[in-house]
Amino acid sequence: MMFRQGAGMTSPRDARVLFALAAVVGLIVFVIDALTPLDIAIAVLYVVVVLLVASTGSRQAAVATACTCVVLTLVAFMMSHDENYSGGSIARCVVSLLAIGTTSFLALRNQATTARLQEQIQLLNLTHDAIVAYDMSDRITFWNQGAEELYGWSASKAIGQPIHELTRTTSSIPVDELRDEVVRNGRWEGELQRVRSDGSTVIVSSRFALWRDDKGRPRAVLATNNDITVRKRMEGELQRQQEELRATIDAIPGMVWSSSRDGELSYTNRRWNELGITLTGNSGDVWTSIVHPDDWPAMHAAWRGAIATGKPFENVSRVRQSNGAYRWMHIGAEPLRDQDGRILRWYGVNTDIEERKQAEQALERSEAFLSDAQRLSRTGSIATRLPAGDMWWSDEVYRIFEYSPDYMPGMQLILARTHPDDLPLVREAYEAGLSGSPYVDVEHRLQMPDGRIKYVHYVAHLAVPQSANIEYVGALMDVTERQLAQDALDRSTAELAHVTRVTMLGELAASIAHEVTQPLAAIVTAGDAASRWLNRAKPDLGEVGQSIGQMVRDAKRASDVIRQIRSMAQKRDPGQAVLDLNGIVRESIELVRRELDAARIELETGFAEPPPLVCGDRVQLQQVVINLVMNGVQAMANVKEKTQEQTREQTRQQPRGRARRMRIATSRVEGDYGQVAVEDSGTGISEENVGRLFNAFFTTKTDGMGMGLSICRSIVEAHGGRIWAESQEGQGATMQFVLPIDKGTCDEQR
Ligand code: ADP
Repeated sequence: MMFRQGAGMTSPRDARVLFALAAVVGLIVFVIDALTPLDIAIAVLYVVVVLLVASTGSRQAAVATACTCVVLTLVAFMMSHDENYSGGSIARCVVSLLAIGTTSFLALRNQATTARLQEQIQLLNLTHDAIVAYDMSDRITFWNQGAEELYGWSASKAIGQPIHELTRTTSSIPVDELRDEVVRNGRWEGELQRVRSDGSTVIVSSRFALWRDDKGRPRAVLATNNDITVRKRMEGELQRQQEELRATIDAIPGMVWSSSRDGELSYTNRRWNELGITLTGNSGDVWTSIVHPDDWPAMHAAWRGAIATGKPFENVSRVRQSNGAYRWMHIGAEPLRDQDGRILRWYGVNTDIEERKQAEQALERSEAFLSDAQRLSRTGSIATRLPAGDMWWSDEVYRIFEYSPDYMPGMQLILARTHPDDLPLVREAYEAGLSGSPYVDVEHRLQMPDGRIKYVHYVAHLAVPQSANIEYVGALMDVTERQLAQDALDRSTAELAHVTRVTMLGELAASIAHEVTQPLAAIVTAGDAASRWLNRAKPDLGEVGQSIGQMVRDAKRASDVIRQIRSMAQKRDPGQAVLDLNGIVRESIELVRRELDAARIELETGFAEPPPLVCGDRVQLQQVVINLVMNGVQAMANVKEKTQEQTREQTRQQPRGRARRMRIATSRVEGDYGQVAVEDSGTGISEENVGRLFNAFFTTKTDGMGMGLSICRSIVEAHGGRIWAESQEGQGATMQFVLPIDKGTCDEQR
């Protein structure tokens, strides 16, 4: 059996050759039959002509040829026998006609059969499958169009070739076994890998069927092949994607799961296995085994609710870890629905939110701390975004401004509570903020609707300078109590300073008395002298005039001293004036001169030129100088007195003894400050005490109050200066203070 595509139809060229051959044979037979006196049935050879024409496949041509041959036979019979027909010649003619008729009939039948077969082959070509038939020695006998397309060889090239060598067949089993299998079972099906004519590989799904002949001998194998290369590739791709998806799901930092529409767990990813959970048995058991018993009822109810309503499920519960510890997890699931909206299954993921939960708790705690701290410290927080002016206030800010928390924070609310006199101050600070100032620091008053006054201190800094929006984060402190306390303290300090001054004046009574009595005595003396000059027989009016002039000067001096004392004893608010530091020191020395003399202290002075001018209150600064001088006098009271000559001599042998000497000097120091230094040769100050001299109530004296230096410091610092002590114990002390040199702004401050 051998078929090939298109078999049964002769090509037009072959047909022409056959027709020509038939015509020649026919002509020769006719000539011999008609013209030769042979007594044989030569016309029988017309069957050759009929067969030749029939072999072209043309039915009409075959019928026409058969008829023509019959006619030619009869013509030749008549031509060769005239009218005397012998019985033998008639029999030969009939035999010939029978032969031609029978042959034609058989040829036509064969043609019909061949045409049917041809149609069937055409049908086989209609299929997309590659259909191949091969004999038991694997030689290809049929190769349809599908095979040509699939493997690339044309039928003419393929037929006769051994199928497996041609296509380099590889299969899961060896090729020989394939054949055995087909012979044994009559059929086989499976996948084969083959190589096309262009060298590319193709995977086919093949079905083999064995054809046996009538005697049951295996004769041929019919194989249908489908190209499944793409399908295979897609299957491979699908598998790869599935694996990738699975790997992705396993890599998700969460416990991924799916469940049936009624909540039965059907899939869990690797994270679950890491927790030691595998899906066996009831899924309800799985959940109860991992969810904290305290959280399970709520979760269970929420899950059941979600299943009943089909709404997404969300829950936060503690989930047990492989080490037995519980971690907070967010458990969420969404339903997957079909086209009609029916739930097919649920997909869920449990996400570890332990850290977030901890952070939330820490945040809650610190918010509570902050809120407590704000309430206790009366400090609120204000964040302001400029230029829009959006604000955020903490609760304490609402309390300070006494607004209900449902008010929308804003500058208007602040201005509404600001004391009218301080409005420009607050507006100015706001403007500074708008212009991007790195710090805002403002203290102002608030006026509450009931008239109460509050003091607040607001400090803020630019929090995000690089952003387009200016954002200030600041603290608003309610400093009312501090301010009231400060006011009270200021008042007490002023009272104390006054009391101390008066006390000091009492101590200076002897000096003062001397200062006053001395000019009074001089007045009396001058008065006596004047009256003596007048009582002369010839009064000397020139001398009288001189004495009266002296009396006026002395009276002025006395009255100056008294005025000074009165001003020191007065209780009044400090004033501001440009003062000559040298003058302050000189006036103070005048008031204590008597004390210095009484204590036999050698006083040395040094005055800066030009005199340093400072801005301040004369009486207060005199109080400071007098204080420092009197402390020096007292510190030297216990020092053994020596003359200058003795001192030089004895210091070497007796280090404890030294002269009572005091040096008071003014100078101008760096940074534009005027300085006053009072240096004594007293006991000095121990290292331990040097740090606390200026503390209130610190004294080493049995009758001391310990307020002098503390008041000095308040006064000096209020004048923008600084006061300090330097000493080597046993070597005397130097008390000094500096005040800023006036730059012509003193009047403005007044
Ligand atoms: P008080 O004179 O009432 O003690 P002060 O505040 O004036 O109060 O002085 C505090 C203390 O500082 C004194 O008790 C004394 O110990 C010490 N002190 C002050 N000035 C000197 C000084 N020049 N030399 C040594 N100690 C001094």
